[in-house]
Amino acid sequence: MRILLVEDERAIADFIARGLTEHGHGVDIAYDGDEALHWPDVADFDVIVLDVMLPVRDGVQVCRILRDQGVRTPILMLTARDAIEDRVRGLDSGADDYLVKPFAFAELLARVRALTRREPALLGASLRVDDLVLDTTTRTVARAGGPIELTAKELSLLEYLMRHPNQVLTRTMIAEHVWNYDFDSVTNVIDVHVRNLRRKIDGPFERKLIQTARGAGYRISGRSNE
Ligand code: CA
Repeated sequence: MRILLVEDERAIADFIARGLTEHGHGVDIAYDGDEALHWPDVADFDVIVLDVMLPVRDGVQVCRILRDQGVRTPILMLTARDAIEDRVRGLDSGADDYLVKPFAFAELLARVRALTRREPALLGASLRVDDLVLDTTTRTVARAGGPIELTAKELSLLEYLMRHPNQVLTRTMIAEHVWNYDFDSVTNVIDVHVRNLRRKIDGPFERKLIQTARGAGYRISGRSNE
């Protein structure tokens, strides 16, 4: 998933970003509210993690502006205080959930997962393309009932493909969603990961699910529950 993290305290921002990256997410950091609002394609993130305590424009204001602009990306607010009025203000401004600092990193991950499951397009916890199933809760993959071992990055890549079945995803799109946005030399890395993924997912099977759109990118094709 591609996550926008808005947090002005660099040490905290770096800590959260590192953890999310280790779990296979692509993370961009905005260090204040204006930077978040000026992100070129802010609507294209899968989740926005938004700190309330920001200089100039606080997280509640940022959230309200994003919602006014029609951005529907799930927003998880981080609040330093456990005051009820803060939570109410946050939720009223259009945030989907909140987390009180300090928090356990595992809880942040769980909230992010829950928010992406809440998207209307992602009703079930399982993604399915033909006989390939990815369980987004247990992070396990099986084809024709047989479990397949994937690395964290291969899993993120497969999840991104399976969330957009039968669509060509360009290397730029894959780089932005699965790797970091500013990671510009990833095309070879993407090709290597796709090759490995294909070996595991399609290798033993006659019907190949992952296809190359020549000069454009990759797509997974088949009957999907999306
Ligand atoms: Ca802050």
